[in-house]
This record gives sequence, structure tokens and C-alpha cells, in this order.
Amino acid sequence: MPPYTSPLAEELAPGLLERFLRYVRVDTQSKRDRTKSPSTPGQLDLSRMLVDELRQLGLEDADLDDNGYVMATLPSTTNGNAPTIGLIAHVDTSPDESGTGVEPIVHRGYDGAVLNLPRNGAVLDPAMLTELAGKEGHDIVTGSGDTLLGADDKAGVAEIMTAVAHLAAHPELPRPTLRIAFTPDEEIGHGATLFDVERFGASCAYTMDGSTIGELQDETFTAAEAIITIRGVEAHPGFATGKMVNATRLAGEILAALPADLTPEATADRQGFLHVYEVTGTVGKAVMRVIARDFDDAKLEQHVALLRRTAEEVVGREPRARLDIEVTHQYPNMRTYIEEFPAVVDAAEEAIREEGIEPVRTPIRGGTDGSRLSQMGLPTPNVFTGGHEYHSVREWASVQEMAAAAATVVRLAEVWARR
Ligand SMILES: [Zn+2]
Repeated sequence: MPPYTSPLAEELAPGLLERFLRYVRVDTQSKRDRTKSPSTPGQLDLSRMLVDELRQLGLEDADLDDNGYVMATLPSTTNGNAPTIGLIAHVDTSPDESGTGVEPIVHRGYDGAVLNLPRNGAVLDPAMLTELAGKEGHDIVTGSGDTLLGADDKAGVAEIMTAVAHLAAHPELPRPTLRIAFTPDEEIGHGATLFDVERFGASCAYTMDGSTIGELQDETFTAAEAIITIRGVEAHPGFATGKMVNATRLAGEILAALPADLTPEATADRQGFLHVYEVTGTVGKAVMRVIARDFDDAKLEQHVALLRRTAEEVVGREPRARLDIEVTHQYPNMRTYIEEFPAVVDAAEEAIREEGIEPVRTPIRGGTDGSRLSQMGLPTPNVFTGGHEYHSVREWASVQEMAAAAATVVRLAEVWARR
């Protein structure tokens, strides 16, 4: 298999790689439980860089708003009625692994062997990383072993910037008006929170935040979180007979009573789950944090109802204990909103095919910015970027696949201009 999917991808690759290597060196790790937007100042360093570069490309309205969102416009080159199309990527990287001092390494013409990174004995073994197997001939970018790479989502950022640079330099190529947005704090679930959909003004958008080449995702989990608080009765353990009610023991009983086959580790594909991800407790008070996930709203409700029933049964056997359950909906399955606008997915499939790739429709066992943006009135499926092993020191990206993604964006503009 030739490493580049098209002459266009090959042409875009050098500029794309140069941008990617620059962006990943900026520490943009986000931080949970934020008190302001963005959660960390490093994100603004990259956002300011992007504003400058967009202006240099001629997108004069490029700006950074008070919440850390970059927005810019590339005007249409047709006088038709093509709708305004959005392109979105996030600047932050995951709080799960260090993003400080990222030193990317380009392994040119990968030979298919184990990749040994210079720090911390980190190893990328194609026998374990099934997607790395078969990438012989690709130029593979990794970190140095002690940080993540940040392809999630700087691959997406670099692909959009590269496609925009190409389109700006080629006004003879037909394109609709493109609106660009770079968002903060996606990794902590807030990429869409302060996104001004009205100001963005696009009919639909695409997040460049997927992984495997060809991937096109218009379906995510629908998601809820439950916080279960159990109150017991404190007593001196030496004199507790008949008095103490241990809230943490009750939490343990609830945990044990939940079905073991409805957990993240026992489910796959289109199955949902209940995931108890944190339990804290004393005798007097225990708190369980549980997330519920499914692709189907009705099934999600069933999981939440099962959790509620189980907690009520266990705690109900102890009349002196008190139970409080607080359920919040986190994000919806975006398919509900996107399927009303089939042209959004059709256009992306067409662009991917024009790049010589077969689209791969996969549901996301998680959420993306697009889940909430779609609910907020901006239908936003997710497109591949060529990055892999996200949120880990083994994160890697293929230059050829990133170039394919950038070329797909160029083709997507043309597909929409024809409509
Ligand atoms: Zn991402």
C-alpha cells in the first residue's frame, strides 16, 4: 500500500508536520474542576499562536474570546447558496498524562519493528498496538516516553490549519464560507459549555477529533451521572452494639449488588454500562459516584432505574440510614440531532471517498464536543485525525494519515460548494 492516499495529501504533509511539531510542544494540559475558562493558561499560549497564524493566512477576523475560544472566517469563493460550514478542534490535552516538555520524535519510514522511546523505557510494540501493525512505510510521530504526544487533538488543529492555509492560497478551488473554531477544555467535558453557537453561525460543523483513518462518527453514548449519598450513624466502635450504622458498609453492599456484567470491563460495542468510579466513606457518610452510559436513551433510563432500585433496597433495610440520589444528564447521543440533517454525514462520506478512503462508521463509546454542540443546534459529527493511543505516553500519529485528514477537509469544502 502506498503511504500517501493522494498527491494532495503528499503536498500538504510537510506544512502539516511542521505545524503539528510546533503545536505539540506547547503545554496545553487542562485541569479538572475548573474555576475559569480555560482551566489552564497554557491553552491560551497555543490559542494566541493560532490567532496570529490565521491572520497571517488572511483570516482577518480571527480572534480569541474571553473564554478562550478562537474563531475565524475563511470567506466563500463561490457565489452560490452553499451553507456556512464549521471546522472544530480542541487545543487542550488530557489531564491523565503529563503534557509538559513534549519532545516529539519522527520515525521516518517505519520498518514495522518495536519502537523504543528514549525515556522511562516506554515501548510501542506492534504486537500489542494492533493499529501500529501494518503501518510500515509511514512516518510515525511519538513523544519521548515521559509525556503524551498531544495528537489528541493537535493533529486535528494542525489538519484544519493546513487545509485552511491550502484553501486560502488557492482561491480557484470552490469552497463555501468556512468558520473555524479552536476550543479549550474538551478533555474535562467543557469544550462546548461556553461555545457561542450563534456567533459561530455555521449550519453544521465537523470536529476533527477522531482516530483511525476513514472514521466518521455521528453517534456517541448518551450519558448520565449519579451521586449516591448514604448517611449512617456514628458511634464509638467499642460501644457500638445496636447503635452504629456504617454508611460505607452499605455502599459496599450496593456495589456488590450491582450486576457484574453491566460494567465497562464486561461490555463492548453497543452495550451500555453502570460504572462506579469513586467511593469515599466514613461511618457517618459514604458517597458513590456512578456514571451510566448507553447508546439508547430508554436503556440509559433503565440503568439509572436499576441503580436507584438497588440503592433503595439496600439502604431501605436499615431504617436509621438515609439515602440521597442525585442524577444529572451529561450529554446526549448526538445521532438524535444529526440524523435530522443527513446531508452533514453524506458530505463527509463523499469527501472521505474522494480522498480514496472507505468511510468507517463507528459509534463512539464516549462523548465529544459534537454531542453537546449537536444538541445546542449545531449538528457536528466527528472525523478521523490519524492519531492513536490517546491519553497515554504511547500516543502516536501517522504523518500520512494526518495528511489524509487534512486533504479530506479540503475536499469537504469542495463537496459543500457543489451543493
Ligand atoms: Zn480529543
